[in-house]
Amino acid sequence: ALAESEGFEDGDLDLEAGAHLPLPVLAVVGRPNVGKSTLVNRIIGRREAVVEDRPGVTRDRVQYEATWNGRRFKVVDTGGWEIDVLGIDAMVAAQAELGIETSDAVLFVVDATVGATDTDEALVKLIRRSGKPVVLCANKVDGQSTEAEAAYLWSLGLGEPYPVSALHGRGSGDLLDAVMAALPEAPPQTFGVALGGPRRVALIGRPNVGKSSLLNKVAGEERVVVNELAGTTRDPVDEMIELGGKTWKFVDTAGIRRRVHLTAGADFYASLRTSAALEKAEVAVVLIDASETLAEQDTRIISMAVEAGRAVVIAYNKWDQMDEERRYYLEREIEKDLVQVQWAPRVNVSAKTGRHMEKLVPAIETALAGWETRITTAKLNAFLGELVAAHPHPIRGGKQPRILFGTQAGIKPPRFVLFASGFLEAGYRRFVERRLREEFGFVGTPISISVRVRE
Ligand code: GDP
Ligand code: GDP
Repeated sequence: ALAESEGFEDGDLDLEAGAHLPLPVLAVVGRPNVGKSTLVNRIIGRREAVVEDRPGVTRDRVQYEATWNGRRFKVVDTGGWEIDVLGIDAMVAAQAELGIETSDAVLFVVDATVGATDTDEALVKLIRRSGKPVVLCANKVDGQSTEAEAAYLWSLGLGEPYPVSALHGRGSGDLLDAVMAALPEAPPQTFGVALGGPRRVALIGRPNVGKSSLLNKVAGEERVVVNELAGTTRDPVDEMIELGGKTWKFVDTAGIRRRVHLTAGADFYASLRTSAALEKAEVAVVLIDASETLAEQDTRIISMAVEAGRAVVIAYNKWDQMDEERRYYLEREIEKDLVQVQWAPRVNVSAKTGRHMEKLVPAIETALAGWETRITTAKLNAFLGELVAAHPHPIRGGKQPRILFGTQAGIKPPRFVLFASGFLEAGYRRFVERRLREEFGFVGTPISISVRVRE
């Protein structure tokens, strides 16, 4: 039974820390004992002991890399999660839900010798609701005689059931062909940009805050001239800039360099350009004119970066014009209007004098590190356990909703899924986010927390 969810709906790929390539992820979902682990072992073509035996909520999801017909992908065995605090049905549903959420396609396994049970039907609903591509595996079809039983599974409404014997390998080739057809080539979350290259930075901010001045300062005058030519088409131009001993890709700089003197609709185009740059970037450097009163447009641009799920650095420019009085008001404005991004690293710079330019790179790197932080399920649940014990949710209508357990479903930005026994009030969710940040950092990154309620 579901309740609510918020945050980055098409969130990021669940990469293992240190993984270089974004491989598509296949979640193997099904009731206990239908043969998921056996099937996973067959898919990965080897026996790999499932490690880390700890009681309770502590085991991280079990991911393996696999190859079929030259294509690489990841397999997640959702049966590898042990979530003892819930009853068996809730546990199965929770495992499935997390598995589905973090995958690009689902392999749904049913025991053909048993047929579709109520739990199977419930899982079908979850899979349907996710809209993810699904392949139906009718397992334990060890021989011709049981093949007819697989056909009954058409009734689940998930299309053709593939009769398989995970134990003996029968039918697994056809099954894997179907899986490959269902899996996307590369996960959509890569924005079509190769990973492992220079980090992608969007320099954004309202007109006249000093974007082109800053870019000129960091890129050096020579490059400006060269790129001025390239920019004449008004196409987005990505520019490689050396900073702090590294190469960074500043995306869509043409829109910054060439001041488009439009009157009507200028805001609209500026906003489209900001969206396009954010789409391509990993981290946004939001430039604000510190010498002027914070404008509604400044906060709107910050919100755009947060909602796009990007790492965020806030740079207050024109610091050379700062005096005591302005500084006093600026701090008040920040407290009042920028509370929602208190976690963003802040640098006070001057594109004119070059003040504190050297602080830009460390701030960007800090934000990217926060953006990519992964907390293990064990650590997260130890933290949640303490939090719930020390600060239980207020009692409402005689009931006290409890966080049962949680997991980090993704990074870039970090996304958490919490399972709770009742509706968690917004205030309590904010409290959980605040405590998460205190405990684990997450400097410079938005984080999303979705809550699933189990009755
Ligand atoms: P899981 O709980 O879904 O991961 O299921 P397991 O992979 O642990 O399998 C449960 C039991 O079913 C084990 O005893 C397996 O040996 C058995 N099993 C799995 N696949 C098959 C199969 O294709 N045919 C038969 N006869 N037994 C199977
Ligand atoms: P953009 O529209 O955001 O690209 O802003 P520009 O880079 O064109 O800058 C707008 C105006 O602010 C120009 O007149 C710049 O010379 C001035 N400016 C930019 N950065 C600074 C700074 O750090 N200090 C001061 N005093 N003026 C600046």
